[in-house]
Amino acid sequence: MRKLAILGAGIFGDRRERELFEPAGYQADYYECDDPMDLAASLTDIVGLIVNLEQVTDALLDRLPGLKAIGRYGVGVDNIDLEAASRRRIPVINVPDYCVDEVAEHAVSFIFAVNRKLPTATSLPRKGDWGKVQALKPIRAIKETTLGVVGTGRIGMKVIEMLAPFGCKILIHDPYLARAELPRNAEMTGFDELLAQSDIITIHCPLTEQTRRMFCADTFARMLKQPAIINVSRGPIIDEGDLLAALDEGVVSFAALDVMETEPPQRDHPLLQHPKAIVTGHAAWYSEQSENRLRDLLAMRIIDCLEGRPVPSIVNKIQ
Ligand code: NAD
Repeated sequence: MRKLAILGAGIFGDRRERELFEPAGYQADYYECDDPMDLAASLTDIVGLIVNLEQVTDALLDRLPGLKAIGRYGVGVDNIDLEAASRRRIPVINVPDYCVDEVAEHAVSFIFAVNRKLPTATSLPRKGDWGKVQALKPIRAIKETTLGVVGTGRIGMKVIEMLAPFGCKILIHDPYLARAELPRNAEMTGFDELLAQSDIITIHCPLTEQTRRMFCADTFARMLKQPAIINVSRGPIIDEGDLLAALDEGVVSFAALDVMETEPPQRDHPLLQHPKAIVTGHAAWYSEQSENRLRDLLAMRIIDCLEGRPVPSIVNKIQ
């Protein structure tokens, strides 16, 4: 049987991929490691490699002469040297579409939680403060709020769709969105107008050189309504030092984050303990269904690639 190595599947807790690989004639072996180079000597005969966050470097690919396909659990491929893979004509395959509903639901959960001030509201009864809405003022009904959506691809658009019945005003900033694609319940604005008018800002653009530190002291200074900020996209889009200052100064009223600049963050990271922040540990993608969808789609795409069949999500250019 031809061999495949699967790295970083320990978070899933079972060997689900084998049920697809073995009948197709592939032996799938699971490994956990910090650096795949430590395993290179055992992987010299693999034809397929699946990774989660492990680094796939030029030097590693030098050690895997029979490799014909690389798969990444998830969307981002910044841990894989795409140029080095392309040079060797090895397709890199991801799964961009496995968790759109889940991430959008996570963002919408954050939107309602920050709008209803649930973190503060749940802390009050614990201190014996029952019925004291003064500590929560002001709260507006969601239909009276303005939501700014930064990035309206698959997930941003799903958030807008999910919010349609609630009637809030929605402002969009996405430099690549064509007006024809504008949802009926949203308006396109410039970035400055979105910053100035939004009560809640939710971030759904990818991490690129343009979006890195897109939210920093300069951006926070242009926010006029002390908005809450939600980030379920990528941590480095927000400068966390500047966010902490903006929270402490009241320029930003609250932050709800699923992603952080460095993951995992230090245990004593000030945002983890901050009274004006809630943080979930990069969990927005997860549901029972999305986890299975991710694993099955990636395994099937790797098999299709190895068998010479067309694959919908190859991220690098193969000449
Ligand atoms: P997508 O590619 O469909 O959409 C991204 C949108 O951002 C596009 O419409 C693009 O035009 C827009 N954009 C690009 N640069 C921009 C800029 N400078 N300003 C504003 N908009 C800009 O991606 P998606 O599937 O909607 O996913 C969005 C992001 O969510 C991903 O890049 C990923 O980082 C993140 N994500 C997080 C999780 C999680 O578990 N937290 C899971 C999946 C995806």
